[in-house]
Amino acid sequence: MNIILFGPPGAGKGTQAKYIKKKVNGFQISTGDLLRDEIKRDTEIGKKIVNDMNDGKFVSDEIVNKLIRNIVSDPQKKGKLIFDGYPRSLSQAKNLDLLLINSNQKIDYIFFLNVKKDVIINRIKKRKIEEDRSDDDLDIILKRFDTYMKTTKPVLDFYSKNPNFNEIDGALEIDQITAKIDTFLQV
Ligand code: AMP
Repeated sequence: MNIILFGPPGAGKGTQAKYIKKKVNGFQISTGDLLRDEIKRDTEIGKKIVNDMNDGKFVSDEIVNKLIRNIVSDPQKKGKLIFDGYPRSLSQAKNLDLLLINSNQKIDYIFFLNVKKDVIINRIKKRKIEEDRSDDDLDIILKRFDTYMKTTKPVLDFYSKNPNFNEIDGALEIDQITAKIDTFLQV
């Protein structure tokens, strides 16, 4: 079962992805985590992206697409992909479609966690204290939300036509969102 979790930064995609990963014995693919790991290991990619990431800007499609290419084509992960934070642009969504077709796979569920800006701001402020992420300062949060609105709206239009698209109110409590997701996942 391949699943996409989609929504603004702070919508709870990571939390739900971890839950789904356990439930379906899948692989969580968080491009945010993959990119932070590149920075931590000080790789060539890490050096290129550190400023943009700390600034709340999107990393280039080229870099992100390259990071997920091998993961999608990995036979061990086939049919067990849980995307958290990818795709985030139309070009990424189209790239993912192609990668899936080429490896004879499809998306089974798209969960759109829809949350308004003020709820997000409060949540990310809390996460800043709990996780001490350097991209979680208020002005960066606002930038990340604006980038999301600008770049990600076309992805929403792209996926909302898909019969597997499901919108969930992301302002609900974590357990309530999980319960809604559970109603779709028949394992
Ligand atoms: P996240 O952990 O998903 O909130 O992502 C943190 C940051 O990583 C974002 O603000 C972007 O700078 C970068 N990032 C993560 N995923 C992507 C993506 N799919 N495309 C571009 N940049 C990304």
